[in-house]
Amino acid sequence: MSCKDYEQNIYTYPELSAKERSHLDAHLQNCRSCLTLFQEVQQTQQLINQIAEEKVIPPHAARLTGSIMSKIAQPSKRAFGEWIIELLLSKRSKFALSGLSSVLLFVFCFQFFDDPAQFKASQASSLTNSVILNAKLFRENFSRHKEKRTLFADCRSPFQSNQYYLNCVKTKLK
Ligand SMILES: [Zn+2]
Repeated sequence: MSCKDYEQNIYTYPELSAKERSHLDAHLQNCRSCLTLFQEVQQTQQLINQIAEEKVIPPHAARLTGSIMSKIAQPSKRAFGEWIIELLLSKRSKFALSGLSSVLLFVFCFQFFDDPAQFKASQASSLTNSVILNAKLFRENFSRHKEKRTLFADCRSPFQSNQYYLNCVKTKLK
């Protein structure tokens, strides 16, 4: 067998039969290049086995686990929502909140009238509303007037006096 034939057996050493191993061992004792290759392959395989078996354990693993578990076990810090509710329910905060709302209202008004565009907009909108209201009133008045006119139309007669007309209107309005 040549060195080339032994080379494959060097790579597959763990899978060799006892007979094949003894053959290779005999060759390795006489061939330096094959022995060098054998040692390299053995080291590489050992390294691969070590990496495969090694479990990744962070340093101070126990301490880390302990601190995580303690934080999970006792959530001593109150939630923000609870804090807000307590603040809202406490007596002192009622005054504080009403004061705060007054201040906010004041600030809002100040900003509102301070902003000419906003002020103008509100004026314009009120003006529009009043115009719409007036138009509606006018329409209602007009229609009522028209109704009255038709209502009192049969009271008007060229053959009757004004007194008759007034009496007629009065009876219609009752
Ligand atoms: Zn050899």
